[in-house]
Parts: sequence; C-alpha cells; structure tokens
Amino acid sequence: MTEQPNSLFVAYNQGNEQVPRQAIMDAFEESGIQTDDPRAAALFKALKKAPEFISHSEFQTLQDIAPTLFEQVLSGQLAIPHFREFCDVLDKIFTQVENNRDGKLANYIPQLERVPPEKFGLSICSIDGQRYSQGDSEDFFCVQSCSKPITYCLALEDQGEDVLHKYVGTEPSGKTFNELTLNAKGLPHNPMINAGAIMCGALIKQGEAASDRFDYVMSKWKECAGNMKVGFDNAVYLSERQTADRNFALGYFMREKKAFPKDVNLQEVLEFYFQCCSIEVTTSAMSIIAATLANGGNCPLTGAQVFRPDHVKNCLSLMSSCGMYDFSGEFAFRVGIPAKSGVSGAIMLVVPNVLGMAIWSPRLDELGNSVRGVDFCRELVARFKFHTFDSMVGLRDDRIDPRRNIYEARLGGVISFCGAASEGDVKEMRRLVARGLNPNTADYDRRTALHLAASEGRLSSIRYLLELGVDVNPVDRWGNTPLDDAERQKHEAIISMLVEHGGKRHDERRQAKKASE
Ligand code: GLN
Repeated sequence: MTEQPNSLFVAYNQGNEQVPRQAIMDAFEESGIQTDDPRAAALFKALKKAPEFISHSEFQTLQDIAPTLFEQVLSGQLAIPHFREFCDVLDKIFTQVENNRDGKLANYIPQLERVPPEKFGLSICSIDGQRYSQGDSEDFFCVQSCSKPITYCLALEDQGEDVLHKYVGTEPSGKTFNELTLNAKGLPHNPMINAGAIMCGALIKQGEAASDRFDYVMSKWKECAGNMKVGFDNAVYLSERQTADRNFALGYFMREKKAFPKDVNLQEVLEFYFQCCSIEVTTSAMSIIAATLANGGNCPLTGAQVFRPDHVKNCLSLMSSCGMYDFSGEFAFRVGIPAKSGVSGAIMLVVPNVLGMAIWSPRLDELGNSVRGVDFCRELVARFKFHTFDSMVGLRDDRIDPRRNIYEARLGGVISFCGAASEGDVKEMRRLVARGLNPNTADYDRRTALHLAASEGRLSSIRYLLELGVDVNPVDRWGNTPLDDAERQKHEAIISMLVEHGGKRHDERRQAKKASE
C-alpha cells in the first residue's frame, strides 16, 4: 500500500521535501497558542530539539505528539482563524480606552480604595485556547461579584436546576446588587445579586465542613482556569466580613422569610460568600475561566468538563439579563454579550462558542461597573459581530466576524484559494492546501490560482504555487496562460519567474505542440 501524502507536510514543504522548523513555530505563534499551554508543552519541547529543516518522517513524529492541535494550527482551523489581525484590533481599542480616566475606585473597603487606579489589564482565550493579553494582565485582583456565575454553576452541579430554583429566582431585580429586597415569594431575585449568591453558596456541598467547602470551590476555580494560579486575598476577606452589615441584613431577611434550606448556619454561609468575593485571579486566568463557559463548561486548555453544558446555558442566560448590575438591560441591548462585573473593576465576558474575555480596570461608574471595561465592550461590538443578535443584520453589516475564515466565507473551496492567491495571502493558501485542496484546480472559467496571481502581480503567491509544483501553463476559457496574463499586465518579475519555470504564452504552447506532432 502506498503511503498517503501528508497534506500538512505538502502545504509547508518548500519543494525540497523538508519543512523549515521556523515555519511551524511561526504558525503556532500566530495562532495564539501560548508556550505555557499544557496541550502543547511536549510538542514545543520536541520542536526545540528538532533540526532546522524537518523531514517527512520527523514531521509525522511531531504531529503525533499533539495531532489535533497540530492540524488545527497548521491548517488554520481554530475558532479565530486570523488571530493576529484580531488582536491588532483589540490592541487599538485598548490604547484608545486607556485614555478614559473617568470614574472612582470602590471605597467601601480600604483594600479596594488602595488599588492603583491606572491599572488596566485585558486577556482573551478562544474556545480553542488561543490566548492574548495586554496591559496589567498578570496582576492579581479580587473577583468580587465575578464569583457569582461560578458559585451559581457549582450550586447547579450540586442541586440540579429544579431544586436550586426553588431557592432562587431567575428575574432581574431592577434594584442595586445589595438592595434589601426579595421577590414576591420571599426569595432572592436571581443568582447574580448578593442575596442570590449568598443563597447559592448555601447550596454547595451542604453539610460539609466550611474548610472542605472552600477547598472544593478553589479547586473548581482552578479547574476552570486550566490550572493557572488562583489565589485568595485574606485582607479583602477580613474587610468584607467587618463591613458586611448589608449582607448580614440580607441573610437575616432571607432567614426570616424561611428562604434557606434546613440546617443552614447563617454565619458560615455569609463567610463563605465573603470568601468567594475575595478569590483573586489575573485577567489571564479569568479569560480562561470565561472561555470554559464559552466552551460549554469544557476548559479549552485541559479538556476538563468542569460544568454541565446545560448549566452553563443557564448561567449565560442570567449573565445576559442580570450580570451588569443596574446596567444589565442597557448592556444586553447595546453590547449583547453575556457578562458579569465586580466592584474591583473586573468584567468577565463570554462570547458563546467563540471566546472568553476578562477586563480589569478599577475605576467604576456610578452603577459599579468598570468605566474602561464598559467602554471597551462598546468599542468591541462596534468592530466585531459579537452581539448575540448580530446574525440578524446579515450582509448589510460590514463589521468583522472573526469566526469566519475570510476567503472561505466569501467564496468557498477552490474559489477561496484563487481569492487568496490573487491577494498574495500565502498563509491562507497554505492552510487551504493543508486541508487537502488541490492547487491545480480551476474555477468555472478554468482560471487557476496561478492565473489570478499572475494577473494581479502577486509574486509571493506565484513563488508558493511554483514550490508546490503546479502546472505552469494551464489555459483558461479565453485561451490565456498565466504568462499571457502577466504580460498583459506587464508584471516583469512574474514574467521572468514563470519563464524560468517553463512558462509559455498560449500561442507558443500551440506552436510547440504542433511542432512535436
Ligand atoms: N463584596 C461586595 C458585596 O458583597 C461587592 C460585591 C460586588 O462586586 N458587587 O457587597
């Protein structure tokens, strides 16, 4: 049996049966897969030791270390195919938003008031684990109310939807997050406000020791974050506990209404809530947590299924309607991305099936949301089709959908390859060849990628096609070869390159054929 040619190898080899190691490294770097990604650790190690030019069998060995990731990266089949370009736009938004110095630090506890107000961190993680960070993305901050979606998911895992929602509603309250109010049934309105989060906390690992419950919560946070560091800020915790009259009042109010399950120790339940608010992470880790939610509860970096997908669906629904304090309705309308903010200035955003994002900038608006965070979100959806209902707008909308592979979306198959060739986008051509596309195929006018590249004067495309060994003299339906096209457009460098590789004008080709007959 003859061995099937490896289409990835074919796409990346430079006509000499070897693939430069750098080409593989570049593809990984551009894809957004980071060097600390647990899926890629062994592969990066092997790549470091690999020779500068990699043979077919060495290539195969590398591919076998992390087959799925290797193929996804080299053929551009990741959630955000043009990751670098996407991040360039995020960079621009970041710089623009950084100038916004409006808002004030939270001041109900000294620990939050002491945070340097200029801090600004941003991180994203796609559902395929493509990551990018900007600014103070490695600084730790306490999560505050960003803990609420996770507490809710944990309570759902423990109790199931039917039982849990006997204790907490699903309706926006229309009131501030710590308002002393319950719904008509005497229950907290939803899990995204204090009363609801206190209630959800009471329903996680009921009856177990407080220490074990907290250990469990921390282990789940870590699992969501792909085992990145998750910390705890004891000073914040002590301060929260000391200045907690309102949360105690909420607790007593719920107890008076008999809202809690049996045998609840109120003091412990409240302490548990303060502990959850005092968990600390970086935006880098928080973006992975958000990506775990975006990926239906499955952590993109480890493959761990931390939450059930239907529970994540519930959580995202409530984040959409209740996640941004009293701004939730406006945010759902303008931005349309499930999000949760915290008074530390953090915002966790989840674009379902695409990516998770974390923004941290401590100055808050009067509703308690990070000023730069909200600003960033507005700018984000002004440029990208991330609003839940952007699919309604269709073709009349020229904002970018980074999920789509630009050429494939526009044309599909062979035509996308010709499109990429005529744009000189060799990376895209390579990805399409890696997916098994035959570079000799022609469109309905019998125009090939080589024709398109020749008429548009794309030297890099021509070079790549010649390296692949395509037919130099295909004839289109009007009788033109690529050399005819290049001559018509007077692309001198291309003319000589084609001639060097045996390129002929159509009439020469005919004469040569006649002479041989
Ligand atoms: N820990 C604070 C409280 O419970 C603030 C939580 C939040 O981010 N809104 O009041």
